[in-house]
Amino acid sequence: MALLQIAEPGMSAAPHQHRLAVGIDLGTTNSLVAAVKSGSAVCLPDENGRVTLPSVVRYLSDGQIGIGHEALAEQPTDPLNTVSSAKRLIGRTLADLSQEAHYLPYRFGQSSHVVEINTRHGIKTPIEVSSEILKALKTRAEESLGGQLTGAVITVPAYFDDAQRQATKDAARLAGINVLRLLNEPTAAAIAYGLDNGSEGTFVVYDLGGGTLDVSVLELSKGLFQVKSTNGDSALGGDDFDQRLFCHLLEQLGLSQLNDQDSRLLLSLARRTKEDLTAHEQTLIEAALSDGRQVRATVTRQEFQELTRHLVQKTIEPVKQALKDAGVSKADIKGVIMVGGSTRMPHIQQAVATFFGQTPLNNLNPDQVVALGAAMQADVLAGNKTAGEWLLLDVIPLSLGLETYGGLAEKIIPRNSTIPTARAQDFTTFKDGQTAMTVHVVQGERELVSDCRSLAKFTLRGIPPMAAGAARIRVTFQVDADGLLSVSAQEQSTGVQAQIEVKPSYGLDDDTITQMLKDSMANAAGDMAARARAEAVVEAESLLDAVAAALELDADLLDEAELTAIRSSIAALEGRLKNGTAQDIRAAVSALGASTDNFAAKRMNRNIQRALAGQSIDDI
Ligand code: ADP
Ligand code: MG
Repeated sequence: MALLQIAEPGMSAAPHQHRLAVGIDLGTTNSLVAAVKSGSAVCLPDENGRVTLPSVVRYLSDGQIGIGHEALAEQPTDPLNTVSSAKRLIGRTLADLSQEAHYLPYRFGQSSHVVEINTRHGIKTPIEVSSEILKALKTRAEESLGGQLTGAVITVPAYFDDAQRQATKDAARLAGINVLRLLNEPTAAAIAYGLDNGSEGTFVVYDLGGGTLDVSVLELSKGLFQVKSTNGDSALGGDDFDQRLFCHLLEQLGLSQLNDQDSRLLLSLARRTKEDLTAHEQTLIEAALSDGRQVRATVTRQEFQELTRHLVQKTIEPVKQALKDAGVSKADIKGVIMVGGSTRMPHIQQAVATFFGQTPLNNLNPDQVVALGAAMQADVLAGNKTAGEWLLLDVIPLSLGLETYGGLAEKIIPRNSTIPTARAQDFTTFKDGQTAMTVHVVQGERELVSDCRSLAKFTLRGIPPMAAGAARIRVTFQVDADGLLSVSAQEQSTGVQAQIEVKPSYGLDDDTITQMLKDSMANAAGDMAARARAEAVVEAESLLDAVAAALELDADLLDEAELTAIRSSIAALEGRLKNGTAQDIRAAVSALGASTDNFAAKRMNRNIQRALAGQSIDDI
């Protein structure tokens, strides 16, 4: 059951054994990579010293891919080919998104089981977009740490369901990253704080990022660090504050029909204004619209806080629910950890402080705390630290169950169960002679299957025919340490076994992923072959030049047969240069080299004789 073992700080392994492992906060808005260096976790900066990488990918017209700051900067001018907030889409379908999709500028594809975005590079899934961000962070880490990564701990919101976790893992696989494990973001934050403080008691992690709110109740006691409950809102974050301010600006400036470019411009101005108002009482907004109109407005912090008060209040509901689920009251909370860039806003700090009647903990950078905790975890999992005294247990966020007769959902593993976990329940047939049974796996808290999320469906066949109610079918649910589920079913009563296992399906099936991996490897192999060929061509051409020059000077040294042999080797090599592989070219180079050995020896002699002519032995 022990999931994570976290060592005391400073107990790292000998430097020569140090394995390069990083923590990656793959955020909706910003992503970061951190590593433990000389015993403490630090975020790794890019070549310009910036640690946050905007989670934005742009597919450029020259075939290149822009990632991060440059992609974000160009988003207003190229919204269709610039994908942001891929995390909101990963592991989901268009049907899951329903309303949300209307606000996004993309040209969505038709697939009903995966979100597809049409870009000028063709169809891209959120998995591929995320993998570009992960690749950029991997490169950054390898350059900064000076070696190949052993693996990474990647964080996900506690709210992520199975499909979203699986999709995140696939994105890492596509980026060539070995996932040591997925870690819930609030848990990572708690690791960063927990190790620093070494405190005991019940803590709340309040994480308000760009796109999501995550609330977790954690308990530290006798060296056991346990997540008691999680709650939140996967569609509430800083973006909503931007949106609110944006709408206000439209009204205030009397702007109605803005084109896409101007909307994007104004939205990014709204975000900047919001961030500015964290430190300033008021801010002046000035912008030039695409039709040349100049707009100008002043927003005060007071105004902004009024406009967004309902959003702030909305974040408190999941806090109450998480406390309720954990069976604790406000008074039991020893500390509140603030995570996510949006917790910088003073009215968020105030609201949380007022609710809990205490000042939240915010001495670590709220943008970085998740990545730092993940890095500490990665360091432990990579084996750089010896097992310490902290034990950390995670929980599943939503109940898992299956459909029973009448469209009802029967819960097998209730939400907030500690993982990894496995539970089995026996079911039976309801018709005489029934030989097959469909197992429909669902996730959610509701009673009716139609209100839950469908994860997978499979049929168990080969049940021996018997009277209704006589067969005993044991269905086992298993959730691994990453929160991923597998389900199996087995007929028990007769000793005849029929069993099937499923991984819950989501957008991309295994074959597709495998194909994508193959494609990327095939390309990589192609690239290497091209380079090897280019090198061989250079070598061949310089040999051909040298032989041609030698023949011009000294062909008279060769008899007819020798000359013919060399000429045919030259012709063979020239032929290979046109369409041979690197290997073919190298073989022909060696053959030409061999056929000219004797010629080279004769020339050497002649040159020596020439050099010696007219000189006495004493001069040498
Ligand atoms: P995510 O976890 O979603 O990737 P982050 O934790 O990086 O997001 O938070 C990003 C959000 O934080 C954005 O909405 C951004 O506007 C907001 N933010 C960053 N700095 C500030 C600030 N100084 N004041 C208010 N909001 C901020
Ligand atoms: Mg975050």
